[in-house]
Amino acid sequence: MTSLEKQAIANYKKAGEITAGAQALAKQKLKVGTNLFEFAEEIEAAIRKKGGQPAFPINLSRNNVAAHYTPAFESEDAASENDVIKVDIGVHVDGFIADSASTIDFSGRHGAMVNAAEDALEKAVGLVKVGLEVGRIGKEVEATLKAAGFRPIENLSGHGVGVYDAHTPPSIPNIDNKASTIIEDGVAFAIEPFATDGKGYVREGSQAEIFQIKEKRPVRGQEARKILEFVEQNYKTLPFAERWVQRELKMTDFARKVGMRELMQKGCIMAFPLLKEEEGKTVTQAETTLVMHEGKVIHLL
Ligand code: MN
Ligand code: MN
Repeated sequence: MTSLEKQAIANYKKAGEITAGAQALAKQKLKVGTNLFEFAEEIEAAIRKKGGQPAFPINLSRNNVAAHYTPAFESEDAASENDVIKVDIGVHVDGFIADSASTIDFSGRHGAMVNAAEDALEKAVGLVKVGLEVGRIGKEVEATLKAAGFRPIENLSGHGVGVYDAHTPPSIPNIDNKASTIIEDGVAFAIEPFATDGKGYVREGSQAEIFQIKEKRPVRGQEARKILEFVEQNYKTLPFAERWVQRELKMTDFARKVGMRELMQKGCIMAFPLLKEEEGKTVTQAETTLVMHEGKVIHLL
């Protein structure tokens, strides 16, 4: 790996600062009763105002949903007093991404699970150095979560972040899978432990609000073409929310659905369905992004 350019490091650091600011704002603004659509739009607007762009739609997955929930346009979904909400925020500056998550427990019943994910993250981050095998991170995460009485979610993991690419190798496990990939200099990556009182395994739900361009292929319908052009110009190869398309393109619901369906059927875009633990179980998450630079670890937030 070549050493990162000065500008790349500056962009990463700025993305990290904006992400930290967005997390702080989220903590302050998210209350029982808060409309999640309005909240999501407010946090994403704050990111843009600071000179960043959302690297993906803010994820506000609740309770047994581990990841990939973002509110639909003008959704009535609101935070309830029983909710455990994972606030997962990504910001990019010229494509350089910081990815972070924290968990807010309105129920007051899952503080230990919130702390377990945070502890696991802190311990894992403490191990990181150039040359570390990623399996060592998974081992630490699993041991920390189990010692606190919870399970890691085995099929969710941290990941490298690339330029305009929110998920690249290496995969950073949350279990002791002995993965021997080495953390190399010049790599940026997110560590993200998920703790649960469920099985420790998530399945895809049927709902999806988050999509990403997969492959540019010719499409016939004018709705599909319009959406594809808009997404390419504004979000490139990063994940986007259907509500962003709806807000900006102001097509009818029918036209947008026709366009999105064609893009899915032709394989131009892919969906990120909700990822769910068992019904009635809870998931917590903590996440941060690190950059390995000239033998040192830069903490983006
Ligand atoms: Mn994240
Ligand atoms: Mn992530």
